[in-house]
Amino acid sequence: MKVFGSSGTRGVANEELTPGFVQRVAKAAGSVWRADRVAVARDTRTTGRMLENAAASGLQSVGANVDRLGVVPTPAAQAYGEAEAVPVVMVTASHNPAEYNGVKLVGSDGVELAVADLERIERKFTTEQFDDASWDEVGGDVRVESAKRRYVDQLLDAVDRETIAAADLTVALDPGHGAGSLTSPEFYRKLGCSVVTVNGQPDGHFPGRDPEPVRENLSDLGRLVRATDADVGIAHDGDADRAIFYDERGEYVEGDATLAALAEAELGEGDTTVSAVNVSQRLVDVCDRTGADLDLTPIGSTQIMTRIQELQAEGESVPVAGEGNGGIIFPNYRLTRDGAYTGARFLELLADRPASEVVAPYDDYANVRINVHYEDDAQREALLDAAEQTALGADADRTTIDGYRLDYGDSWVLVRPSGTEPVVRIYAEAGSEERADELASEFATALRAAKAGL
Ligand code: MG
Repeated sequence: MKVFGSSGTRGVANEELTPGFVQRVAKAAGSVWRADRVAVARDTRTTGRMLENAAASGLQSVGANVDRLGVVPTPAAQAYGEAEAVPVVMVTASHNPAEYNGVKLVGSDGVELAVADLERIERKFTTEQFDDASWDEVGGDVRVESAKRRYVDQLLDAVDRETIAAADLTVALDPGHGAGSLTSPEFYRKLGCSVVTVNGQPDGHFPGRDPEPVRENLSDLGRLVRATDADVGIAHDGDADRAIFYDERGEYVEGDATLAALAEAELGEGDTTVSAVNVSQRLVDVCDRTGADLDLTPIGSTQIMTRIQELQAEGESVPVAGEGNGGIIFPNYRLTRDGAYTGARFLELLADRPASEVVAPYDDYANVRINVHYEDDAQREALLDAAEQTALGADADRTTIDGYRLDYGDSWVLVRPSGTEPVVRIYAEAGSEERADELASEFATALRAAKAGL
């Protein structure tokens, strides 16, 4: 397997992602970092402890002392890394199913490593030129219990506690048996909310639902909102860096609508926001209304994080960024996705309006998605040629950093090959189903004709 994909290293634990593999990643990272101390943390997965041990032993073998944080959300591990100025190895597969695990690497500034740093570590991994320590210089390890408390305290200091407490909210929370089970209930309670939970015990078997916070996994949360008359529902993924919402009627809120609502509250003239090339028209419209610029990256949170840092280095103001999957970044707070923080920022919007009204302006969009399969490289090539020809012939703004995206002002279409399956995906979004269908169909027709003509 490739060491670092678009969002870190993931695989089925003990098959693709073995302790040996994780140990080697840790040795490579430790050799590149040359840090005296490194923190190691994990989410709730059954294989987390085993892989945390592998990561710790790899780091110790190259001379690093290890702070073992135990089970904490990824943003909590990042906060610890930043406060202590130590890099972090986070053992998590984020939203993937229970059998998966993975590794995220975080620098001593608390920020996920950028693409260039990952490539340096990947080279070290491949060449196995590790800085193995002699017997009397291997690292030790200590258990650190304070990371969760420090994380919650930092969150409490960063949000508008008075506004949220005054709103007297009931929050229905679904941490999905993940690491957020250990921090989010306490955080929202300390904000003055009444908290009710479902899937609230940490459990690496994920008995209540899969870790991915998507509509089909979250029906229990909708029911909990209705049964308890809650003001809002909040769901996290396995490592709690994402937040997805339900409104006070128990209706699922599209992640793109939440991103647009939070962005509109944050963006002004001259600001820039960063999202991936599959960004929703909702955020495009927000940028038009607020006078902010929209900067698009290839798909993947690492790409977005790297681009934010580039823009900040150029002096741009980037107050909010992220994707419609609930992974939102508020760079003026911290350069990380944080599900608990994102949830609290949404609570701030509920001070004078119910959740359904907050997201209503971002409700009316239709999405169409068509997959065109290919059998071999020749077919793939033909499909991508047809996509290019169709894109070049269109009267629209073109973005070609990851497939072909055409923006028509009030609608868009994106054509790109899947990274994991033999299909070319066509996505379209518009104010009406008919228009979205028309945009997607034009490409689908051209691609199918090219395949048939081979
Ligand atoms: Mg995650």
